[in-house]
Amino acid sequence: MNLNVPDHIMSIVPYEPGKPLDFLEREYGIQKSIKLASNENPLGTSPMAVKAISDHLSTMNRYPDGSALKLVNKLADRFNISSENIVVGNGSDDIIALLAHAFLGAGREALMPLPSFLMYEISVKASGGNPVMIPLNGLEIDLDALADSVTDKTSMVFLTNPNNPTGTFFTKEKFTAFMSRMPENLLVIVDEAYIEFARDENIYNSLENPLDDQRIVSLRTFSKAYGLAGFRVGYGVMDAFVAGVIHRIRQPFNVNSLAQVAAAAALDDHDFLEKGIGIMHQGIDFLSEELTEMDIPVMPTQANFFLMDVKQDATMVFNALLKQGIIARSMKSYGFPTYLRISAGLPDENKAFIKALKKVLSNHGSEKV
Ligand SMILES: *Cc1c(COP(=O)(O)O)cnc(C)c1O
Repeated sequence: MNLNVPDHIMSIVPYEPGKPLDFLEREYGIQKSIKLASNENPLGTSPMAVKAISDHLSTMNRYPDGSALKLVNKLADRFNISSENIVVGNGSDDIIALLAHAFLGAGREALMPLPSFLMYEISVKASGGNPVMIPLNGLEIDLDALADSVTDKTSMVFLTNPNNPTGTFFTKEKFTAFMSRMPENLLVIVDEAYIEFARDENIYNSLENPLDDQRIVSLRTFSKAYGLAGFRVGYGVMDAFVAGVIHRIRQPFNVNSLAQVAAAAALDDHDFLEKGIGIMHQGIDFLSEELTEMDIPVMPTQANFFLMDVKQDATMVFNALLKQGIIARSMKSYGFPTYLRISAGLPDENKAFIKALKKVLSNHGSEKV
C-alpha cells in the first residue's frame, strides 16, 4: 500500500503473545497441555470475583464508571493513599503506554534494562521516543549503569522489581542510592507486577514502604497474583499532577465494568490470594529441588517464575517440551541461549513438567536436543 507510515512506528517489532492453548493442542496433536509460559495464576479465578462478575452480567447495557470509583477507593484504602494518586488501566500495559505517550515523544529518551518487559520498548517507540537499553549485570538490573546513562534527553527510567524474565530484585537501600543520582525532571517507573510473590524482606516495595518522592510511579497488576489476566486490570500509583496528565489522554472507559467489579472483589479475596501465593512458593521450591537433583542450575527468584540453564539450545528443548504438552518459554531471544523460563504451576503440573523434561533430555542423551 502507498501509505506513509512514520519510521518510529515501522521500527516496532510486534509483541508475540503465546498462542491460545486450543490452537497449540490442535497443531501438535496434544491434549491437556500445561502452560507455564506466561506467569499466570494456575489456581483459576477468585470465587469472589466470579460471583461479583455474575451479579453484574445483566447491566452491560450501561457504560462503565469512567473513574472506576469503587476500585480506586478500595486501592486508596489498601495503601493508605489518596485516590488522586491512582490511575487504573486496561492492564498495566495500558498505563505503560499512557506514560510513554504523555511524557516522551521525538527527541526524548527512556532508559530500560535489557532484557526486561517488552512492552516498555514498544510503548516508547510508539510515542516517538527513543528506548535506551542498559544490559543487566549478570541477571540483575544494573542500577549504576542506568544512572550513568541519564542524559538531558532522559525523561523516564523503567525498572522492574522483581525483574521479568530474571526474577532478581533490588533493595530499598540500592534504590534510594539510585534515586539520589536521578535529576529532578524525570519519572522513574517501578513495575511491581510480581511483588506479591517476593519472599526476601529486603526487597524494595514502593507501596508498603514508600519513599516520599514525586518522581516515582509504581505499577501493579491484577494479572498475576490476583489471577485476572483475562480481564486486563492494572494500576499506577503516582504523584497527583502526573495522574492528572494521564487522565487527559486515557480513554474515558479504559477499564470495562466487569473488570472493575472483578478486581474490586479479588482485592478482598485474601484467602484466594494467600492460597495462590502459597502454591507458587511450594511449586518454585519443589521444581528447584528436582531440577538441582537433575544437575540443571536454577536461578534464584522473587517472582512466580524462574530461569533454569538446560545447558543446550533452549529453543530446541522448548520445542521438544511442546510435543510433550508443556509450554515453557525459551530465553534465546532474550540473550540467554541455553535458558528456559517457567512459572510454577499446580503440584501435578510441576510433576508433569519434571517428567517431560527428564524424557526430553534423556531421549537425546548427551547429544543436542
Ligand atoms: C505481566 C507483566 C505486567 C502486567 O501486564 P498487564 O498488562 O497488567 O497484564 C507488567 N509488567 C511486567 C514486567 C509483567 O511481566
